[in-house]
Amino acid sequence: RNVMAKSKFEYVRDFEADDTCLAHCWVVVRLDGRNFHRFAEKHNFTKPNDSRALDLMTRCAQTVMTELEDIVMAYGQSDEYSFVFKRKSNWFRRRASKFMTNAASQFASSYVFYWKDYFKDQDLLYPPAFDGRVVVYPSNQTIKDYLSWRQADCHVNNLYNTVFWMLIQRSKLTPAQAQERLRGTLAADKNEILFSEYNINYNNEPPMFRKGTVLIWKKMRKIKPLRSEIICPKASEKLDFLPKCSYKSIKEIKSKEIKPPGETEGKQVEVTRIRTKPVALHCDIIGDTFWKEHPEILE
Ligand code: ATP
Ligand code: ATP
Ligand code: MG
Ligand code: MG
Ligand code: MG
Ligand code: MG
Ligand code: MG
Repeated sequence: RNVMAKSKFEYVRDFEADDTCLAHCWVVVRLDGRNFHRFAEKHNFTKPNDSRALDLMTRCAQTVMTELEDIVMAYGQSDEYSFVFKRKSNWFRRRASKFMTNAASQFASSYVFYWKDYFKDQDLLYPPAFDGRVVVYPSNQTIKDYLSWRQADCHVNNLYNTVFWMLIQRSKLTPAQAQERLRGTLAADKNEILFSEYNINYNNEPPMFRKGTVLIWKKMRKIKPLRSEIICPKASEKLDFLPKCSYKSIKEIKSKEIKPPGETEGKQVEVTRIRTKPVALHCDIIGDTFWKEHPEILE
C-alpha cells in the first residue's frame, strides 16, 4: 500500500494462513459468552431467565448486524448469538478471522456500551468477553439444520432449567437435590412435574425463553414528531428532552392507530424515511412455516 510496507521484511506476510471461507457457502459466526455461568451469578441474573440480559444480547446482535456487512439473519439464546452471512458475501474477501473478530469485538464493546440501558440498578463489575467460531454450511438444508440445532438446544436447556429452578425456588430443594430429582427424566416427565406440582403449562412460558430470538431485516418507517410540536430549546439547554424518534413497521402504520401523512388526525406524527432494521422475533424456525414466510432470507 505504501512505500514503507515494501521492505525486505515483507516476506513475513506469507506466513499468514489462508482462512478464506469456501465460495457460495453460508458462513456462520457463533459467539458465546466466556464463563457466563459465573458472570450471571456475579451480576445477579434472574434464574432461570434474566430478560434484561437477553434483551441486552439482542441489542448487541442488532448492532453487529447494522455495523458489519452482509449478515442476513441472526439467532440468539442464553449467552450465545449466531450470525449468518449471505452466500455471495465477499466482505474481507471471505476471511474467517475477519468475520469472527469483527463480530466478537463489536458485540463485546456493545455489551459494555449498552449495559446501563438494561441493567439500571446493577453495575457492570468486570469486562465480559465472548469467544467466536466460524462454520461454513454448503446448502440451504444444512444452514436450516444448524439453526434448528441451536433452537432445539434452547428448548432442551430451557425446559430443564425451568423445572430445575422451580424445584429450588418453590420446593426449596438444593441444586444437588434438584439435579438428582431430574436425573433420567424425559421431556414429558418435566412437563408433568411443571404442570402437576407448579400448575405451569410450559407452552405458556414466554416465547423469548422457549424459542430464543430470531433477528431478520424488515423495512420500517421512521416516525418523527412534527417539528412544530417541539419547543425550541435555548442554546444553553441540552437536547435530551426531545422526544426520541420511534420506528413502526409498515403494517402498523397501515393499521388504524397510526396513519400515514395526509390522513393524520391532529398532526400527531410525521413519517419520514424508510429504513431497514434488524427486528426481533421469537418464533419457531425448525418447521417449514418460517422459511415459507421469509423465502428472501435464503435467496
Ligand atoms: P463457557 O465459557 O465455556 O461458554 P459458560 O459458563 O458461559 O462457559 P455456557 O454453556 O455458555 O457456559 O452457559 C452460559 C450460562 O450463563 C448459562 O448456563 C446460565 O447459567 C448463564 N446465563 C446466560 N444467559 C442468562 C440469562 N439470560 N439468564 C440467566 N442466566 C444466564
Ligand atoms: P481497516 O478497518 O481496514 O483496518 P482503518 O481505517 O482502521 O481500516 P488502518 O490501516 O488500520 O485503517 O489504519 C488505521 C488508521 O487509524 C491510521 O491510518 C490513522 O489514520 C488512524 N489512527 C490510528 N491510531 C491513531 C493515532 N494514535 N493517532 C492518529 N491517528 C490514528
Ligand atoms: Mg491498522
Ligand atoms: Mg460454551
Ligand atoms: Mg458461555
Ligand atoms: Mg452458552
Ligand atoms: Mg484498522
